[in-house]
Amino acid sequence: MANSKFEYVKQFEQPDSLLPNTWIVVRLDGRGFTKFSTKYAFEKPNDKRALDLMNAAARSVMSELPDITIAYGVSDEYSFVFHKSCTLFERRASKLVSTIVSTFTAYYVHHWPVYFADSPLSPPLPSFDGRAVCYPSVQNLRDYMSWRQVDCHINNLYNTTFWTLIKQGGMDGTAAELMLKGTFSADKNEILFKKFGINYNNELEIFKKGSVIFREYELVEPGTTLNLNSVVEEAEKSSSGAVPEVKSKSQVEKERKARTKAGIVVEHLDIIRDEFWERRPWLLS
Ligand code: ATP
Ligand code: ATP
Ligand code: MG
Ligand code: MG
Ligand code: MG
Ligand code: MG
Ligand code: MG
Repeated sequence: MANSKFEYVKQFEQPDSLLPNTWIVVRLDGRGFTKFSTKYAFEKPNDKRALDLMNAAARSVMSELPDITIAYGVSDEYSFVFHKSCTLFERRASKLVSTIVSTFTAYYVHHWPVYFADSPLSPPLPSFDGRAVCYPSVQNLRDYMSWRQVDCHINNLYNTTFWTLIKQGGMDGTAAELMLKGTFSADKNEILFKKFGINYNNELEIFKKGSVIFREYELVEPGTTLNLNSVVEEAEKSSSGAVPEVKSKSQVEKERKARTKAGIVVEHLDIIRDEFWERRPWLLS
């Protein structure tokens, strides 16, 4: 590019590349979805179409960005995890976040008519905010994922009970809120079961557990070969050692190609316990 007297302005750009050798999580969240969900009459507490649409958009993001290892979604949010060896956009935060958020938003709008055939979108159109956070160890990353799934469980149990009290119990919002104030999980389960004959365990898995999207290869049988501990140890060795383990360019490229080819699946599984990770050692290795 030709030099010009204006070019100095480039120097005002601040570097924002994320810490090397750490797991990058980009989380996006729908802006003003309380209002948005009212406008399009989302069913309360869980509109299945809206969740399926979030999943479809996230799945499209995963297939366009093979660097993403795994994604987890609940309500109007999605977290995308980049492998700690990822070098996409030189790990620049603004590039990573803006690419994920705009790709997701574009697909959310693109897939909308499939899930909401009877209610076409009109301005204000759906939009999402996003942020990137680095997690230095596999344990931190798993705790992050667990944190989101626990949040899903707590909110869903509350919302399910709250909306049952309103829809089937004839209460208004204020009365339902008052009734649930200070209650524990066991109390909510009991209200659902004793008053309404609802066994919370029988609610849809997608509501109780949220959605996890990843590339599926051959599962490892439970209790055999590679277990999580060795994966964790391996990963922690390389993240705490003086010399970080660096994969060769051809190795990275080979893995990238394999990821591009692998089938992307959407599941509603427990990602808090070890089993999920033990059976899919490629996710954290
Ligand atoms: P902000 O812009 O700060 O994120 P928000 O209104 O989007 O504001 P959130 O905390 O993100 O607030 O909450 C998401 C809102 O969207 C909740 O009110 C939730 O009930 C609603 N919502 C999201 N997905 C669904 C769904 N599938 N079914 C019903 N309601 C949903
Ligand atoms: P990156 O992802 O790194 O941004 P890029 O291919 O988008 O890669 P840019 O430097 O952003 O590279 O350049 C934009 C490209 O799009 C240029 O090749 C430019 O000629 C082309 N382009 C953009 N707008 C138009 C347009 N209106 N008409 C013709 N070509 C266009
Ligand atoms: Mg928010
Ligand atoms: Mg929101
Ligand atoms: Mg939210
Ligand atoms: Mg350009
Ligand atoms: Mg460009």
